[in-house]
Order: sequence, then C-alpha cells, then structure tokens
Amino acid sequence: MNPKTQNSTTNLIIALNKISLALRSEAWKQSNSNGLNPTQAQILSLLQKSEPQRLSDITQALGISAASASESIRTLVSKQLVNKQPAPDNARAIALSLTEQGQEQAKQSSVYPDFLIPAVEELNIDEQAILLRSLSKLIRTLLLNGQISVARMCYTCTYFQVNAHPENPRQQHHCQFLDTPFGDLELRLDCAEHQLA
Ligand code: SF4
Repeated sequence: MNPKTQNSTTNLIIALNKISLALRSEAWKQSNSNGLNPTQAQILSLLQKSEPQRLSDITQALGISAASASESIRTLVSKQLVNKQPAPDNARAIALSLTEQGQEQAKQSSVYPDFLIPAVEELNIDEQAILLRSLSKLIRTLLLNGQISVARMCYTCTYFQVNAHPENPRQQHHCQFLDTPFGDLELRLDCAEHQLA
C-alpha cells in the first residue's frame, strides 16, 4: 500500500472509531438512565420494528451469540418488557414480542442515535449521498467477510441494479422490486422488501 493510501485508510479508521465510541458512550449513558444495557435496548428496538421474532432472528440481526441473546431476553422477560409465546407457525418454537410496557421503553431506547442528527445535517445533500454510498459499500464488504450480519441493504439485494441509469447522476440506480430509479441518498440499509442476492 502506498504511504498516501495508508495514511487516508488509517485516518478513516480513526474517524469511524471516534463515531463508534460516541455511539457506545451515548448508548451506555441512556442505559444508565433506563436500567437496560445496550444489547437489551437493541433487542427492544428490533422487536419494535418487527415482531414477533425468534431468538435466531435476534442473534442474526445483532451479531451476538445465542447465549448472550438468551441472557438479555431473560432479563427483559423478568422486567415484563418482552413476552415469550409459542410461534404462530410452529408451536415448538418461541416467538418474542413487546409488552405494552416494552413498547414504551422501546420508544425511549430508540432515540439515542438521534444525537447524530445535527452533525449529519451539517453535511450538504451531495456529501450525504457520498457518505451513504461509501458506508453501504463498507458494510457490504464487512458482510461478505462475515464480520457483520445485518444484510437487508440495497448493495446485497437481488433487485438492486447499481448505476442502471448513468445518464441521471441523482437517480442512477434502479430497484426492480419497486421498478423505480433512485439515487445514493435513497440507498436503503434496512429494507423490508430486501431479497439476498
Ligand atoms: S427491494 Fe429494497 S433493498 Fe432491494 S433494491 Fe429495492 S429498495 Fe433496495
């Protein structure tokens, strides 16, 4: 690697690490105020987006071990934030869902990344588009290397046609599922219609 590339790679990794530290610090601050650790708060947030879910869905989405997920879920059930019931399609499997109290707690737990909004809004539209495209590609590589497990993003989707409309730089991609062109700013990282390519 040439020294210039090495320098920019190192700087980018330092920058990503700083953002990750800020996210972790904010998550722990919030945990201290609501009595949940960040993993427990993430499970609530996941169940809020789509429920019921099984243990395997949670371990896969959060990239954590079954033991760690089981322990967090035990705590959430004992705090009456999560219900465990037989899965609707298989009585021997367990499905997890939020209790009413869990719904309330999930709303509060999902606000911690909001502290990033003012910083992101400092970027202009073009900068936001470049950042979103770069982060999507970074996540895709981590995914292909087995280092991250969240995958419902355009860059790993069978319906995604990258640069299908080069004549239109703001709407250069195409989603076959929605049959519509879209730009870097609309790249999705958690799409319900995603099909793994
Ligand atoms: S279905 Fe969703 S993830 Fe797939 S290309 Fe379309 S918008 Fe992107």
